[in-house]
Amino acid sequence: MTYRVRAVPVAHGGEGGILVSFEDVTDLERAGQMRRDFVANVSHELKTPLTALLGFIETLRGAARNDAAARDRFLAIMEREAERMNRLVSDLLSLSRVESSARQRPRDPVALDDLAQSTLNALRTLAEGEGVTLELERQGDGGVTVPGDADQLQQVLTNLVENAIKYGRDGGRVTVRVGRKARELAFRGPAVELVVEDYGEGFDPVHIPRLTERFYRVDTHRSRAVGGTGLGLAIAKHIVNRHRGRFRIESEPGKGARFTVVLPASE
Ligand code: ADP
Repeated sequence: MTYRVRAVPVAHGGEGGILVSFEDVTDLERAGQMRRDFVANVSHELKTPLTALLGFIETLRGAARNDAAARDRFLAIMEREAERMNRLVSDLLSLSRVESSARQRPRDPVALDDLAQSTLNALRTLAEGEGVTLELERQGDGGVTVPGDADQLQQVLTNLVENAIKYGRDGGRVTVRVGRKARELAFRGPAVELVVEDYGEGFDPVHIPRLTERFYRVDTHRSRAVGGTGLGLAIAKHIVNRHRGRFRIESEPGKGARFTVVLPASE
């Protein structure tokens, strides 16, 4: 706990005194620390590809100037680094958009099963590149509509399925299930459950509480190698919170991971 203590001289009934006030600033302090950590992380994440780019520009100007093969190789690396920065900036913009919209509750009717279908269609080329099969299981007799923001919910699905493809088993499969639950205690009413499951490397459950923190990665090297920014789950969690939903993560190392989103259903 952190307190801010103030002492103010006061006059009372002809006598002087001092009024001492204690203000609990623990949350403020924590928010300030989080902001400082975030800025430090963003700077570090941007500086790494920038340093690589500057290094390669210098090499291209000097030693590799007349070596066509080296030039092509270096340009390919520079393109990868620039793409990494581009992804990071896009994710930062998404995060800030979600945060600034957090106060209003989204209310458009969104058919989650149709949204899952179109998201999987959009990701099929990426999956095929990794030899991964995408499966959609629609449970129940439809009626899986939630009040929400279609673009943001699509972003949740995209982030979860992209992760399942990236961290799943090469040549494996990713299953997406969408179904209605008659009653969810937390909402005192019907709910829609969305599950994204893969059968890849998974992670030790000790990581679960921190997995949705910005820039938290189980294996930084692996995340970078697959083009991760470390922000995908933080964005997804924010969006789910904005929809008053619940986010659950389960994994067994070596067997895969399961991400479940439960949202209040439209009446
Ligand atoms: P990244 O861009 O690094 O993938 P995310 O926020 O999407 O960032 O995920 C955070 C971390 O959670 C990842 O770096 C990875 O270690 C772990 N992770 C996420 N999804 C999966 C998954 N399906 N299987 C195994 N690990 C995962």
